[in-house]
Amino acid sequence: MITLVCPSCGGQVECTDEGRESVRCPYCGSEIFFGASHTDAEFNNIRNANYQMEQDNLLDEKNRRSVKTWSVVRAVLIFLLAVQNYTGWLFIAIALKEENREAVKNGDFGFFILATLLIVGAFFLGLISPVILTLTRPNYNVVTKEEDKNAKVKAFIITLLINVLVWIASVTLAIISWKVFNIR
Ligand SMILES: [Zn+2]
Repeated sequence: MITLVCPSCGGQVECTDEGRESVRCPYCGSEIFFGASHTDAEFNNIRNANYQMEQDNLLDEKNRRSVKTWSVVRAVLIFLLAVQNYTGWLFIAIALKEENREAVKNGDFGFFILATLLIVGAFFLGLISPVILTLTRPNYNVVTKEEDKNAKVKAFIITLLINVLVWIASVTLAIISWKVFNIR
């Protein structure tokens, strides 16, 4: 019989069938390698530790990638919100221009409708994107390399805050543009 120390949970795992290459830890379910003798077991305890470290690294890499992908998606959504909101408020000014007022009087609401769609769309994007990003945020902290149960809550609060700031900034920028480009 060989006794191994589980590299994952530290549990003592005994195996009577010495012909096997590996065994599952009954406490945590990790795969543990062992050899045919106690010397092999000693050696394999090191091998198991290395194997576990490798598994941890692979898992960390995978988690890092998913967090990174998520961050890129968030950046794109924030950028979309900024552009959409800015364009919408810019179009409001264009729609109110002297020469366009005639068109409105004649029943041509094209610019108004476009501006409204953009502004309302940006508003809903700003509300919906934090929800989508919260639901899709991986429960992983890249700094501590551990599972982070608060990751989703943090993602929601931060994204909502960013969206509010981006919304204010894009409206401000649009109003500045009205003056700079002498639209109104
Ligand atoms: Zn274990």
